[in-house]
Amino acid sequence: MGWSERTETRWLLPEAECRPYAEPVLISACFLGVSCRWHGRRAKRRDAPLERLKKKYVLVPVCPEQLGGMPTPRSGEYLRGGTGADVLDGRLRIIDTRTGQDLTEFHVKGSRYTAEIAEIVGARRAYLKGGSPCCDREGVTGELLRRAGIRVVRVP
Ligand code: SF4
Repeated sequence: MGWSERTETRWLLPEAECRPYAEPVLISACFLGVSCRWHGRRAKRRDAPLERLKKKYVLVPVCPEQLGGMPTPRSGEYLRGGTGADVLDGRLRIIDTRTGQDLTEFHVKGSRYTAEIAEIVGARRAYLKGGSPCCDREGVTGELLRRAGIRVVRVP
């Protein structure tokens, strides 16, 4: 049957699922099951808190490290001797301890893209994974978002 012969109306969402405006919030993509962590494995499942967030917000997944151009898998660096603020202010570099490669620009670029996405979708809040050099509240992305006035919630 060709397209012109179709009589059934198709909707992007079933009508029952349409809901009034919900606030967009950023969320670390790995929480939603995206295999973007440095080792390529999925994060542990957090179904219950995710369901609570989904009822209240529109979740916008971001992975700053991938947005910055880093592949998966990649080296699992963390911030040594400082915070994301030190990186953004030029006092600390993020170095791959195995190869000596300077990864700072990947982190900074990905954090800037993440902040741009927040601006585009109008997000004023972000749920970010703790312990990540980017996503932690004290990480590069967390710090940049907070400087932009976005409330960053650290999820352990
Ligand atoms: Fe998850 Fe953030 Fe690390 Fe990406 S950068 S894998 S979203 S914690």
